[in-house]
Amino acid sequence: MIIAMKPDATKAEIDHVCGAIESFGFTPHIIRGEERVVIGAVGRGDNKDHLHSLRSAPGVADVVPITQPYKLVSRELKANKTVVRVDDLEIGGERFVVMAGPCSVETREQVMETAHAVKLAGAHVLRGGAYKPRTSPYDFQGLEQEGLKILAEARSLTGLKVITEVITPEDVEIVAEYADIMQVGARNMQNFALLKRLGKAGRPVLLKRGMSSTIKELLLSAEYIATNGNDQIILCERGIRTFEPATRNTLDLAAVPLLKEMSHLPVVVDPSHATGKRSLVRPASKAAVAIGADGLLIEVHPRPEEAWSDGAQSLTTTGFAEMMAELQSYVSLESRFMN
Ligand code: PEP
Ligand code: MN
Repeated sequence: MIIAMKPDATKAEIDHVCGAIESFGFTPHIIRGEERVVIGAVGRGDNKDHLHSLRSAPGVADVVPITQPYKLVSRELKANKTVVRVDDLEIGGERFVVMAGPCSVETREQVMETAHAVKLAGAHVLRGGAYKPRTSPYDFQGLEQEGLKILAEARSLTGLKVITEVITPEDVEIVAEYADIMQVGARNMQNFALLKRLGKAGRPVLLKRGMSSTIKELLLSAEYIATNGNDQIILCERGIRTFEPATRNTLDLAAVPLLKEMSHLPVVVDPSHATGKRSLVRPASKAAVAIGADGLLIEVHPRPEEAWSDGAQSLTTTGFAEMMAELQSYVSLESRFMN
């Protein structure tokens, strides 16, 4: 339920409404808009009629139901876009944000070489997996904490922010010590224990769409993070499974503007996992800019033929720099400047 306060509602009136919401068994979430405060009342409280009764409370302008099953992440509750903040970097703001780096953290040298190259080419965030959710148990599983340390060193040498994947609730604490943004992979989009834990991790979360998940399911997974206390969520379209085997996945580009209609959260595109093919990463990235994505997550490796994972879809550092130069004009056309 949305409790819209009057523009001149006082703090005491807002506090009173929040207290009443809690006494009815719901949880209040205050959203401060430019003109007024709205309070989302969510949860499994037993009687929604109680919330309707708040219509006559002092300072309340209106009480309206949220029609969608996802509440806190819906546009109905919050009309303004959410801007996710990592220190001075904004995701979902004016600037188009590029996150780039290897699929896996392999060696210190590989990460440093890639980090310097992607920074020089204009990336803002370094990606790299230290905990890898591999389809086969015999494949490289990641360097774990040693990998996190390498990423942190690359951050201090380049000034790039760091995004890295966390695959279990138990690892959230240690990954949060090193990462600026916590990545939830496609395979874990519905790992609800992980999502709940990330609600309390105090770090922005990039939530990837599951390979067989609907848009509604993605938003409900985001809702798990939001309702557990974290509204700093970035949604990521990374391709879904279809009948088409020519690409690794099928990039659902329309999901980008659709998610923006349905939710206030920023949306980025991962053209690497979406296509699985180096030659398709650049055209898919241009399309992502044109369709209104807030950023990109791209795999880059200095020597993709030697990569321990996902070499076929990784851009070389030179290929990435060329793509960034070309994207610059696309982004400028959109009046969103990368630097
Ligand atoms: C990744 O980005 O490292 C990854 C494993 O991707 P996905 O979860 O989209 O498969
Ligand atoms: Mn990968």
